[in-house]
Amino acid sequence: MKKIICLALAAVLAVCCFASCGETKKKEMVMGTNAAFPPYEFVDDNGGFAGIDVEIATAVAEKLGMTLTVKDMEFDSLLTAVQSGSIDVALAGMTVTDERKQSVNFSDTYATGIQSIIVKNGSTIKTVDDLKGKKIGVQAGTTGDMYCTDDYGQENVKQFQNGSLAVAALANGQVDCVVIDNEPAKSFVASNKDLVILDTKYAEEDYAAAIKKENTEFLDNFNKALKELKESGKVKEIIDKYIAAK
Ligand code: GLN
Repeated sequence: MKKIICLALAAVLAVCCFASCGETKKKEMVMGTNAAFPPYEFVDDNGGFAGIDVEIATAVAEKLGMTLTVKDMEFDSLLTAVQSGSIDVALAGMTVTDERKQSVNFSDTYATGIQSIIVKNGSTIKTVDDLKGKKIGVQAGTTGDMYCTDDYGQENVKQFQNGSLAVAALANGQVDCVVIDNEPAKSFVASNKDLVILDTKYAEEDYAAAIKKENTEFLDNFNKALKELKESGKVKEIIDKYIAAK
């Protein structure tokens, strides 16, 4: 009899350990991003990651009983990282596109963006139509890169690893303009008086989180948490904190 109880106890312990081990492994949510895209993600004065995406991911992770780990990488490495499973989710002001949907699933959208054009004060570029034949700076692998390559030809598009490098190239005359999302555009222009954003919208887009196609359970959980955060006003609160409410 004692033996049977012992065996039963051992079995219960084994199951508990198994369950809790599994749980421990799932407790971490690894978010990949490119932390050079303010106000969505950037490195703050204390060297930590901050921004809209970081805070939304933190709030989602909290709802799911997980802790968030942020991995900083090049924007154009994010989808491969999602596919390989080295990150659980990419949040990077990433635009939902049909092309990207072929390699990853997107969560529900949580924000919108606009592709803006930054030029030097007094530039002859006044509207989207003036981009023809001009040297356009973009961030590699972004929608701005794709649209400009399609519309104006690869030979006219110069790729940079992040937006601030593209903007620096504009400031020192290597390119005639930069096509980039509107909120980072505002932030880059704010620190350079010689630059302006044209009052024209090149493209309007939806931002969402990218998740590995096979991770449908995580996608569902992510969406449920996101929905609750939208309904409670938390998502709006986070966005308003970084972007002055219009
Ligand atoms: N929204 C753009 C895209 O998805 C740019 C994102 C980014 O540079 N972080 O391509």
